[in-house]
Amino acid sequence: MKKKIVIVGGGNAGSVIANLLAEKLDVTVIEPNDYHVYQPGLVDYMIGYVNREKIIKPINVLLKPSVRLVKARARKIIPEDRAVITEDEKKYEADYLVIATGGENKALFNIRGYHTLAEGDNIREIINSPKGKNFVIGSLPGVIKCPAAPWEISFLLKSKYPEANVTILIPAKQPPPIQLPISTLFSKIASSLGIKILKGFVIGEVNYDSKTIISTEGEKTSFDNLIIDTPIMTTFPDLADNSGLIPVDKHTLLHSDGVFVVGDANNTPTPKTGAAAHLQAETVVNNILAEVEGNRSKELYRGDAMCALYTSRREGALVWLNYDRSKVLGPSTIYRYMKEMFINLYWSSLNGSIDVLLKPMISAIGRGK
Ligand SMILES: Cc1cc2nc3c(=O)[nH]c(=O)nc-3n(C[C@H](O)[C@H](O)[C@H](O)COP(=O)(O)OP(=O)(O)OC[C@H]3O[C@@H](n4cnc5c(N)ncnc54)[C@H](O)[C@@H]3O)c2cc1C
Repeated sequence: MKKKIVIVGGGNAGSVIANLLAEKLDVTVIEPNDYHVYQPGLVDYMIGYVNREKIIKPINVLLKPSVRLVKARARKIIPEDRAVITEDEKKYEADYLVIATGGENKALFNIRGYHTLAEGDNIREIINSPKGKNFVIGSLPGVIKCPAAPWEISFLLKSKYPEANVTILIPAKQPPPIQLPISTLFSKIASSLGIKILKGFVIGEVNYDSKTIISTEGEKTSFDNLIIDTPIMTTFPDLADNSGLIPVDKHTLLHSDGVFVVGDANNTPTPKTGAAAHLQAETVVNNILAEVEGNRSKELYRGDAMCALYTSRREGALVWLNYDRSKVLGPSTIYRYMKEMFINLYWSSLNGSIDVLLKPMISAIGRGK
């Protein structure tokens, strides 16, 4: 009889695991939404480069036919039983349980982030019909999705509206050493575009009447349009550590015996990116197959993540890092094309069909100078 796996969350990481294990295991995905959003494409959508059809697809067409898709929201995970209970009080147990539920925004200062299509609609409206030309972009302290996104939005806004005042708020005074090359390049691009950077600016108060933000150190800045991302936390706070995310072994992605946590939901010290979610999913698939089929060795996830971003109307950059090193390439037109192209390639990445291209490319970028 086939081993059973239950995957909670059919987003980026969950779909990859389900599709790569389909046919080999008895696979169930528990997911409340009908549509999968290509979240990096939200930037293109908010700026107005693409329409919404380009960045969403029905989840049932993205999963292989042998995957059982249960439309439900999980309300409780019982790691010691490798079990999940859904909001309609059904219990699902398995040999392997994967938590791939991403992260939910913490609602702070009445700020809406930009992780969902509805939030994307709101920012698209702000960007394309702005109330004034004073834009403040940034994030609150904590773990945010794709830390490059606020920079990317700032670069695109300034390219779209060269006469606008664009300010980026960075909560950290200094980036962690591993991110220094990335932060240095982004700061250089921002300065060359005339974007004001406020480093160490931690939002302490947002006054929507006077349109001002005051930092925890008393620094004030005004805005016409505010685009701020808020930190994420897991939907299962009873499993979370102080970061708000679920602890795992950072190399095996194991939370406990037979229970893996992948992608944005776990506390691995790597930026929350789709590339990290994908590569973590691949590690989990390999290691489950090593146990089930016994025909391969187990592998370790080493923190690899990659992100292409727009730096202007014509150019882009490529960021790569793992737990030990980082590098940033560009700006160049090549990385801009790469980013644009991936909007179409993303859907194929969910069933592993472009791994033959993706995995060697990521490892070559990591190996190169
Ligand atoms: C604006 C923006 C720009 C980005 N840019 C980039 C980029 O350029 N490059 C890059 O690599 N990454 C980027 N990212 C990050 C990337 O999209 C995420 O890191 C990635 O989607 C995480 O995958 P995941 O599978 O962990 O979570 P998700 O893809 O978010 O999937 C989580 C799934 O779990 C489901 N779920 C949630 N709660 C429950 C529950 N209780 N029960 C059942 N199901 C549940 C959700 O409905 C969802 O389908 C960006 C993100 C944003 C928001």
